[in-house]
Amino acid sequence: MAYDYDLFVIGAGSGGVRAARLAAMTGKKVAVAEEHRAGGTCVIRGCVPKKYMVYASEFGRSLHHMKGYGWTVENASYDHNLFMDKMHREVDRLSGIYARNLRNAGVEIIEERAEFADAHTLKLLKSGRTVTAAKILIAVGGAPILPQDVEGIDLAISSNEMFHLDAVPEHIVIVGGGYIAVEFAGIMSGLGARVCLVYRGETVLRGFDDDVRTHVHDELKRKGVKVITHAAPKTLKKDNGKITMTLSNNETVTADKILFAVGREPHTKGLGLEKAGVKLNDKGAVIVDEYSHTNVPHIWAVGDVTDRVNLTPVAIREGQAFAQTEFMDKPTSFDHADIPHAVFTQPPVGVVGMTEADARKAFGMVDIYKTKFRPMKDMLTRDEERVLMKLVVRAEDERVVGVHIVGPDAPEIIQAVAIAVKMGASKADFDRTCALHPSIAEELVTLREKFVPPELKPV
Ligand code: NDP
Repeated sequence: MAYDYDLFVIGAGSGGVRAARLAAMTGKKVAVAEEHRAGGTCVIRGCVPKKYMVYASEFGRSLHHMKGYGWTVENASYDHNLFMDKMHREVDRLSGIYARNLRNAGVEIIEERAEFADAHTLKLLKSGRTVTAAKILIAVGGAPILPQDVEGIDLAISSNEMFHLDAVPEHIVIVGGGYIAVEFAGIMSGLGARVCLVYRGETVLRGFDDDVRTHVHDELKRKGVKVITHAAPKTLKKDNGKITMTLSNNETVTADKILFAVGREPHTKGLGLEKAGVKLNDKGAVIVDEYSHTNVPHIWAVGDVTDRVNLTPVAIREGQAFAQTEFMDKPTSFDHADIPHAVFTQPPVGVVGMTEADARKAFGMVDIYKTKFRPMKDMLTRDEERVLMKLVVRAEDERVVGVHIVGPDAPEIIQAVAIAVKMGASKADFDRTCALHPSIAEELVTLREKFVPPELKPV
C-alpha cells in the first residue's frame, strides 16, 4: 500500500523535531503535526523561559552582593512587563528556528492537532483531512496535572500560566515539592513576591539525595519562603480577588495566585491510541522498549509521553536513536544511566548518578565524601548561603557512582563531571586530577576524608 508519508511525527517538541529532521535528511517524506507552536514544552513553556525567569530573579541578590564589593546601587527596580516581553520575543525567535530547521530539512509542518483514526491513519482536526503514514512517531509530551478532587481547583494555575503573569503577585502559594515547585518558589521570591510552599511530605525534592533535599529545603526557608509540610490542599475559594486554600491540617493560606506543581502526565488523552492498538501503562504513558518501539510494529514513542526520564536532552537523544535505527541503518538505543540533571533553585542543584541511599541499597558498602562551605564570592557580602558537595563512592572498586552539588554554577560543573562518571572514573582518578584554584569545583578533587555518620564514630 502507498502511504502519504514515510514518517508522520505527532508533536514538534524536542524529541519529535530531532527525529523528523534526521529522517527527512535521509530523503524520506516526513511530516510533523503540531497543535501549538514548534518547540514544545522546553522552548515554549518550560526550560527556556523558566531559565530566563531564574536569571531575572537572581539580579536582586546580585544587587545586594554588589554593595559588599563597594558598589552603590540606587533606585534599582524591576519592570515585569518589559522583561516578559523580551523573554517572549526570545521564545518566539527560538520557536521560529525550530520551524525553519524542520523546513530546511524538508519536513512538512502541519499546524493542527492530529489524532489516530486507525493504526496507519491520522485525522487532522482543523482541516478535517486524513493522512496515512508507513511509520508513526508519538512525541506529544506531557501536561501539568491539576487534581480534580480539590474543590475549586479551577481557581489555581499551572506552570503554563506562570509564563504569562501580567504582574508579580504580591503573595503566591505553591503546592508541591518537586522540580517545578521549588524552582518557582525561588523565582517568585527573587522577584519580590511573598511565597508559601505547601508540601505533603517532610522535605522537598523526593528522589534526590537526602543531603541535597535538606540543603535545598533549608535554603528555601533561609531565603524567606514559608514552607508548610505534611499538608495537602483541600478546597480553594475566591473572595475579593484573593484565593483562600484550606489544607488537610485545617490551616488556611490566602494569596493572589495559587500554583499547583504536583507533577505532569503524558499527553495521551484523546489521541485515539486505542484505535491504533497502542498500549499504555496505568499512568497513561505509552509503553516502549529500549528502541522506543511500542507494541505496534510501525509505531514508536519518545520523550515525556513515555514517562521514562522526563528531560529535554533525553527526548532529543531518544528521537535521534529512533531515527538512526529506523532510517539510517544504525540500530541505536539511548542509555538512560547516569543522566546529569539540574534543579534551578537558588542556589541550583546539579546531580549525576546515584543517591547515597540507592548506592547503599545496590552495593552495601559505599564511601561518602562531603563538604559544606561558604563560597568565596559571599565572604565579602555577609551572605550565609552554603555550597554542598558530595561524592558517593562504591567501596569495592572505589568507583564514583554519584556526584551531588548544590551551589553556584552546580549545573555547569555537573555537566563536565558527568563525563568522568559516565566513563567510570574512580575516586583515585578524581584525586590525581589537579585542582583549579580558586574555584568552587576544585573541592571535587580535594575531598580527602571519608564521612563517618555520627552513629558509627568510635566513642
Ligand atoms: P514532580 O514529580 O517533580 O513533583 C511533584 C510534586 O508534587 C511532589 O513533591 C509530589 O509530592 C507532589 N504531589 C503530587 N501529587 C500531589 C497531590 N495530589 N497533592 C499535593 N502534592 C502532590 O513534578 P513537577 O510538576 O515539579 O515536574 C514535572 C517533571 O518535569 C519533573 O519530574 C521533571 O521530569 C520535569 N522538570 C524538570 C526540570 C529540570 O530539569 N530542571 C524543571 C521542571 C520540570 P511527593 O514528593 O510526596 O510525591
